[in-house]
Amino acid sequence: MLLHAPAKLNLGLYLGRARPDGLHELCSLFEPLALADLLRIEVAERDEVVCPGVEGENLAARALAALRERGWGAPPLRIEIEKRTPVAAGLGGGSADAAAVLRLAAPATDCAAEAFWSEDNQSAPASTVGVVDLPAIAAELGADVPSQLRPAPALVRGAGEMVEPLPAPAEHAALLLPGGGGLSTKDVFDEADRLGLGRDPAELEAIAPRLRAAAGAGASPLAYVDLLVNDLEPAAISLRPDIGDALDALRSTGAPAVFLSGSGPTAVALFATLTEAERAAATLDRRDAIVCLAGPQAVAS
Ligand code: ATP
Repeated sequence: MLLHAPAKLNLGLYLGRARPDGLHELCSLFEPLALADLLRIEVAERDEVVCPGVEGENLAARALAALRERGWGAPPLRIEIEKRTPVAAGLGGGSADAAAVLRLAAPATDCAAEAFWSEDNQSAPASTVGVVDLPAIAAELGADVPSQLRPAPALVRGAGEMVEPLPAPAEHAALLLPGGGGLSTKDVFDEADRLGLGRDPAELEAIAPRLRAAAGAGASPLAYVDLLVNDLEPAAISLRPDIGDALDALRSTGAPAVFLSGSGPTAVALFATLTEAERAAATLDRRDAIVCLAGPQAVAS
């Protein structure tokens, strides 16, 4: 079996304060990219995850182990991950891999159904296989995993566990400059705390309806570029000044929207079409440039 694990973009990332559990409140629009890791899955003698290029414990292996702990009874599996999404780049590649593994345990209807998610995943319906509660496992694995369980546009709140589906936006394309990845999400959040960046709860609360109104009717993000603000940008640039150069390079192309994805270091420019994004990439002297479709059409392609 072959599975795609699409990378994600954050279309606006508004940062709140750290919670007692250490995670930060946030409010963000997520959307999938055509850029995706490829998972080759086959029945084997024992569970095994192979992921060339990624050292240490793999998030996909943790996802598989978590399913087993909950009693998931599928035969032992060998999962080989072909990484295409740059690692530690703010594109959610590890979370996408873990979510793809969790999708193996979802009833087929759940993955397809619009009703897979409730507005508040604390009370998510019909998303369990026996004792397996996928949103709960996803939230345990990492803040970005719940939103990747179903790679589709969503308004994401809490520390990532509240996932509200949004309609498909008009087609658009992204030009990414991942700058080699390699920026730790934890380091960026720590730096954000050091810089005192979090918004007050009331201010953060007021953002969600604005993002929902902007994206809720299926508009392209190019229709609400003023909302594509990433509060983590100063923290990421403080740790990796080359991000500022990447953002400047993208702005020099005349792109209608330029921002940081997630905790960086990937700088993003959005365009109305793939052709425009490719033309802009050709004007840059950047070997790390990646051009791809964004939004649900991206996943379908
Ligand atoms: P996010 O946007 O969710 O903060 P990211 O895109 O910045 O994440 P990832 O590529 O998901 O970062 O990787 C973060 C760290 O997780 C890496 O440094 C790597 O060591 C570890 N990791 C574990 N499993 C994976 C995996 N399958 N793919 C990538 N990284 C993984």
